[in-house]
This record gives sequence, structure tokens and C-alpha cells, in this order.
Amino acid sequence: MSKMSEIFGSNVFSITVMKERLPKDTFKALKKTIELGEALAPEVADVVASAMKDWAVEKGATHYTHWFQPMTGKTAEKHDSFIEPAGDGKVIMEFSGKQLIQCEPDASSFPNCGLRATFEARGYTAWDATSPAFMKDDTLCIPTAFCAYTGEALDKKTPLLRSMQALSKQAVRILRLFGDTTTHSVTSTVGPEQEYFLIDKKLYQERKDLIFTGRTLFGAMPPKGQELDDHYFGSIKERISAFMKDIDVELWKLGITSKTKHNEVAPAQHEMAPVFTTTNIATDHNQLVMDTMVKIANRHDLVCLLHEKPFAGVNGSGKHNNWSIATESANLFAPGSTPHENAQFLTFLVATIAAVDKYAPLLRMSAANAGNDHRLGANEAPPAIISIFLGEQLNDIIEQIKDGSLTSSKEAATMDLGVTTLPDLPKDVTDRNRTSPFAFTGNRFEFRMVGSAQSISGPNIVLNTILADALCEIADELENATDFRSALSTKLEQLVKKHYKVIFNGDGYNEDWVVEAEKRGLPNIKTTVEALAVFSDDDVIALFGKHGVFTKEECLARQEIMYEEYAKTINIEALVSVDMAQKEILPAVMDYIASVADSMNAINAAVPSAPVGTQEKIVIKLSELLELAQVNLDKLRIEIDAAIAKEEISELAHDFIFKVFEAMKALRTPCDELETLVAVAYWPFPTYGDLLFRV
Ligand code: ADP
Ligand code: MG
Repeated sequence: MSKMSEIFGSNVFSITVMKERLPKDTFKALKKTIELGEALAPEVADVVASAMKDWAVEKGATHYTHWFQPMTGKTAEKHDSFIEPAGDGKVIMEFSGKQLIQCEPDASSFPNCGLRATFEARGYTAWDATSPAFMKDDTLCIPTAFCAYTGEALDKKTPLLRSMQALSKQAVRILRLFGDTTTHSVTSTVGPEQEYFLIDKKLYQERKDLIFTGRTLFGAMPPKGQELDDHYFGSIKERISAFMKDIDVELWKLGITSKTKHNEVAPAQHEMAPVFTTTNIATDHNQLVMDTMVKIANRHDLVCLLHEKPFAGVNGSGKHNNWSIATESANLFAPGSTPHENAQFLTFLVATIAAVDKYAPLLRMSAANAGNDHRLGANEAPPAIISIFLGEQLNDIIEQIKDGSLTSSKEAATMDLGVTTLPDLPKDVTDRNRTSPFAFTGNRFEFRMVGSAQSISGPNIVLNTILADALCEIADELENATDFRSALSTKLEQLVKKHYKVIFNGDGYNEDWVVEAEKRGLPNIKTTVEALAVFSDDDVIALFGKHGVFTKEECLARQEIMYEEYAKTINIEALVSVDMAQKEILPAVMDYIASVADSMNAINAAVPSAPVGTQEKIVIKLSELLELAQVNLDKLRIEIDAAIAKEEISELAHDFIFKVFEAMKALRTPCDELETLVAVAYWPFPTYGDLLFRV
């Protein structure tokens, strides 16, 4: 491996590269755009574009692409070469400021739900200068936002940037109240831990369910699963290690700070975590991480499964979204060392508690997809109930605030908010709580519900927006207060009292918690379809509208897209289930039954006195299960047809979860039992044992 200093960021048109290659004035203008969001003059864009092209061409690029994130949750790219005819049968390499700033891909074939009719295909991608351009596969990739002709966002980046802007605005208002007159922007930061499975490519190719849906739709448990806890942090196999080394290098080249790697709980499951960065860049990076993992795995004759639940019976994969907010110099979720800063920290802390409680269903929705429904609430991932873990010491402080131990008179004293304990707190104020969906971990919150295959954009849009809203409410009240300190104290106490119910430091996997949470009035939203309803609630539409994150039309369009995506996912799974059962499992079972029956006949003919009870038992048992499988298969077909016939999208999605999905499970049960009874040689595809342990 060459030197890290040569590798890291070598494929990124970074600030350093810009500084080296751009004229001073251009660099300054561009930096202003990046840091303060000022518009870039066309002449400046031309200079930047030309420098970018030269840099990329030197690295072997022939093409450029506006790289964007449509609502599929994946990334999209259409490549254009730099070549322009030069008139004499030759070409020159050209790239203008206009081409850098804006492109016009056809928007009609991306999910847009009414925001674009097919005949009105115009959509625009616009350069996001805050996320650096990079080289991938001989192509200069320019991170862009994607919107409709009419300006509505059609992607995951635009609203994320809007939510960051909203949060910045409100957080700065709070900082002003605490006497900070110099901070002009606050950013949210994210470090997403990415879990994934690696399996052998040859075995993968023999399973239609994995190929078409990313998860197994059939499969009996092997004799060994994850019960020995021997995989978590276990020694990494050479083949996996080779993949991980490659991943590190490829990510480092892209300027992605791949930092931590280890084996996860389930066999064949692993994790990678980068160092956190600004949410927008972290989101772009996470898309690249997923993309790169899939590609590099292929190089190693492996397949990377990013699905939230590739295998029943062992842990699925999530994405812990470590989230904080920071000024250029300070993390606002870090408990400070002076009373003044502590009060500020407590304001942000209490605002977060209030936001998460008030908008729990929205936060739950942000982590909802068909894959994640298998995890949330299934005793391996956080429960579907949103609660906050604070850890012992912060919890104690919050309780003090709630119990009114902080009166306004007390507040005027040196330790205004009565939290003199805080400066003495050791850095790590919290123990870990693996079961909490939203845990304070010392200087950030870890939102643990996010699914492994999801874009982290959605969850962070919600986190940023709901916090912006809570901060806005506080700022509105306190900006007009005559006595800021006492007003702050009163406000925090009022908020803590109102939202205390969301704090839970116990075991989220315990059955009692479900009962307790219900008593507290905390929502327990079990499925994606139920979770999605919140996107059309008046208060949610008002929230997004107020902070300029989504218009009402955008909320409704997104809701519809998510219903549709859900229904389509289950539909594909159901069709693959039918296909595999009908064309692979049932014929295999029939063959095996026939061979057992043949052997019975042969024995009867050859040695009439020999016992054939074993064969008989097998034939009877298998035939019964076969019949049950066939009955359930027919039922599944009927449910699919009935669901598809529904016209209203939310009804259709409801049918898919409550009828089709249930029918799929009913078909799986006898099939999985058959797998345990049929001779290995007859079973038509690799088993869980093969997939999880033969890597
Ligand atoms: P864990 O022990 O929880 O598995 P990891 O080291 O795997 O932790 O991941 C922790 C993640 O949290 C890393 O991506 C790290 O960079 C990130 N992180 C640390 N501080 C912050 C912060 N202030 N804001 C956002 N993310 C942070
Ligand atoms: Mg980790």
C-alpha cells in the first residue's frame, strides 16, 4: 500500500485541490459559496469547471456526471463525455460552468408521484458545492440536488440541505440568547455505522430470493446460529479481511474516513464506521459506502447484502445514526465545563427531548421500510416504540429540572440551572444501552432505528427539522423575556415535565416495556404502512412547511412514493415466493417422495419381509406438508391478485402487509419444515448453513 497521505482523498476535488488549482479570487468566491451558501457567479463557475475537468482528465476521466439521489434511496448518474467536436474531425475536452451548475435529466422515470407527469419530463440537477466532486470509475461525479421543473424536490438531498439550513437558523437564535454574537451557522453532524452481510457469490447466484429481493424468503435454521456469540468482534477471516482492506482503500481514495471495522453479531455479518462529518457529506458518503461495498464484494467473489433482514432467526442489519450539532469550534451536545455553557447544553438537550417526544411517530416513520419491519421490535434491534436513553447522570439532572429544584431565584445564583454536578461529570456520563432507539452517548445521540439499506437522509431530515422546531419555540419565548435566566429555567422545567414520558433508561427488549410505554401514551407503530400515515398529518405538514423543508405537495408525494415502494417490495417478494415454491421447492419434494416410494416398492419386491416403515413415514409426512404448501401457495396467489386490484395506494399497501405478507409467511412455514426432512441432494438451493458459514 502506498502512503496514506497519497491515498486519502486522492479521488476528491477537495478544498486543498481547489486551493492549488484555482486562481485566488475564484477560490475565495467558491469558498464563500461553500461556507456561506452565496450564489456563484457564472464566470467563476466557468473557471471552476475548467479546473475540475483538467484535474479529472489528468486522472484519466473521459466523462462527467451529475450524481444525485432520487427518491429510490439509491444514487443516479447519467454520464456525458467531455468531448466536443472541434470542426476538423477532431474533438476537444470541454466542460463549462453551465454544465457544472445545472443539468437536465429526464425526471419522469424517477419516483415523483404526481409532481411530474410523464409528458412533462423536465427535471433539473443543480450542483451542491458543499459536497466535493469526486472521481469514480473514470468519471467526474458532481454531487447535485434534483428537482422538478416547478421547483419541487425530487430527491433526498434537497430537503436534507433545507433541514440543515432550518436547524442552523434556529440554533443560532439560541446561541444569540446565550450571548454568542459571532457564530453564523450551526451544522448537524453524522457518523453512520454501516452493518452488512457478506456471502459467497456462487451460493448467492443459486437463490432467486437473494437475487431479486436481497433477502431469503425461505430457509430453515441451521444447527448453529449466533447463540455462541462467537462472531461479534471475532477474528476476521482472511477472505473477509481482504475485502475490508480493499474497501478501506477505495473509501479513503474518495475521502471517506473509514475508521472502524469488525465482525457483527450474526454469522457473516460485519460493520464499518467512518469518522463523523457534516450531515450532507456524511449522507453522500454513506451512499458511496454502500455502492462501493457491493462493487468490491463482487471483486472478491462475494456478495454484500445490505438488506435489513437477509436471514430469519439471526440478527438483521441496521445503521446507527450518530447525530450531533456543532458550531465550527464546539459540539453543542457536549456537556460544557462552565455553568454558562451548561445551561446552553441543557437547552439543546431539553429541546431534543421535547422534539423527539412530540414527533415520535414522524421519527419512527423516517426509519420505516419493508426490510426494517423485520427488525424493529423483534428483540435484536430497538423496539418500534420511540424512547430516549439519557444515562444515569443526565437523567438525574433532568429529574431535578422536572421536580422544580431549579427555581428562578436559584437560577439567578452562580449555577443558574442548579446543575453544579455537571462540570464534575466525567466525559463518559452514560453507560451503554443497546436496546434504546435513541440513546445519548456522551456527546451525541445515536438513533438506532435506521435500516442498513436506507439512505440516512430521511432520518436526518426529520431529526434536524424537529430539533429546529423545538429550538424555535424556545427562542420565540425567550427572545422577548425580560429576565432571560428565569424565563429559561421556567421553559426548560415546563418542557421536561411535558416530555418526561419519553425518557426510558431500562431494557427496551423487555415485554414489560411495551405495557409501560402504552400506559405512558407512547406510540408503538409496528409496521411501515402504519408509520407512513403520519406524513399527511396536519401538524407534520405544518412543521415541514414552517421550516421550509417540504411543501404540502412534497409531503403527500413522498408519502405516496413510500406506500408504493412498500407495496412493490412486498409484491416482488410474494411473486418470488410463489415462483420458488412452485418451480423449485415442490418439484424437489415430489422427486424425493418419488425416490422414497420407489425404494419402498423395490424393497417390497426384492425382500417382502423387510420393514419399510421408515419410508412410509417419510412419504406420509412429506406428502402432508406438500399438500399444505400447495394450499398456502394457492392462497398467496389469491391474496396477491386481490391486493393488486385495490386502487387506493394506502389500501393497497395495507393489503400487502396484512394479507399478502401473512400469506407469504404461511407458505414459508411448511416449506422450511420440508427443508429439514428432504435429503440434501434433492434440496434445490443452498441452505442457511451454506450461506452463513461457507464464506
Ligand atoms: P459504537 O461503539 O457505538 O459502535 P463506533 O465507533 O462504531 O461506535 O461509531 C461511532 C460513530 O459516532 C462514529 O462514526 C463516530 O465518528 C461518530 N461520532 C462521534 N462523535 C460524533 C459527533 N459529535 N457527531 C456525530 N457523530 C459522532
Ligand atoms: Mg459500532
